Amino acid sequence: MKTKTAVTFKPYERTEYAYEKLRVCRKCGHYTVLSHDVCPVCGKHALIDVATAARREARKKMQSELLFAVLLTLLAMFFADTVLWMGISAAVGAALTAMLWFAQRRSLEAQLRIRTDRMFARDRDRIRHGLIQDIRAAEARLQSEPARAYEMLREVGTLLRNDPIRGLQAELLQTFVLRRDMDLLLEPLIMDGFSPHLAGYIGEVAKLNRELIKESAIRYCLRYEPQIRNMNRGEDILAAVAGAAVRMKRYIELYPEFIRRYVHKLPEERLERLRDLLSQHAGSFPQLKLEADEVYRMRHRERHSHGRMLPPRDDRGES
Ligand SMILES: [Zn+2]
Repeated sequence: MKTKTAVTFKPYERTEYAYEKLRVCRKCGHYTVLSHDVCPVCGKHALIDVATAARREARKKMQSELLFAVLLTLLAMFFADTVLWMGISAAVGAALTAMLWFAQRRSLEAQLRIRTDRMFARDRDRIRHGLIQDIRAAEARLQSEPARAYEMLREVGTLLRNDPIRGLQAELLQTFVLRRDMDLLLEPLIMDGFSPHLAGYIGEVAKLNRELIKESAIRYCLRYEPQIRNMNRGEDILAAVAGAAVRMKRYIELYPEFIRRYVHKLPEERLERLRDLLSQHAGSFPQLKLEADEVYRMRHRERHSHGRMLPPRDDRGES
């Protein structure tokens, strides 16, 4: 096994929408998620976020509409026969232009959404190309600055969700010494296919911060349970996930059989937690309850035979 390196990486900046990570260059139109101001292609300080770019486009379109209305008014005045008609044309033109202006103000938000959607549709290939360039930039640092490469891939992964990018991140994470205080992400890394790196990472996360183990991670372990079992210390991974799952009644309801298979490997405190939850729902999950009680009894007996003092709560369930 390769030795793991101690690294630090920046906390992940969360945004409401994934596309908020994307920047576009005002000069050359290049898209990137890796830089905030300097364009990686033309080197100019010309990057703006997509919302700003959409706003600029919407404003430009509104200005040209207003200009067109003013032009029509001037034309009407030019072709007016009398001063009276000239006056009427000017008044009507000014009123209509003002109405247009008000209508534009009122529909600005809706316009921005439409513009943003259109930008994504129109620039789809350019965005893809930009993200691929970002991945290349990350790959170039895999050896020299793995932590930075991981950070870069994490950013790209926000927008480009596919197994190769997730797999590369999981592989990198498996070469780092992970700590509880790190901002670890799990959900975005859950792949469609099996990856021993991801399975190993899930196992580590389950031990470091069990709050991160959610339905998608449990389902992943369930789906690839035979493959994970075949891994070195694979059972430990599955037991750690089962141990994390017993923190929520909902997961026990959804995956009682999965948890049952690893009850015998749960640490004492997780077993306690499971038995507590089960005792609150007497009559439900009979198989799981049977297994949990059996494992508890066996451990209890073993401890007795080793002559150790038992905490008072261990008397429960003995009869
Ligand atoms: Zn540029």
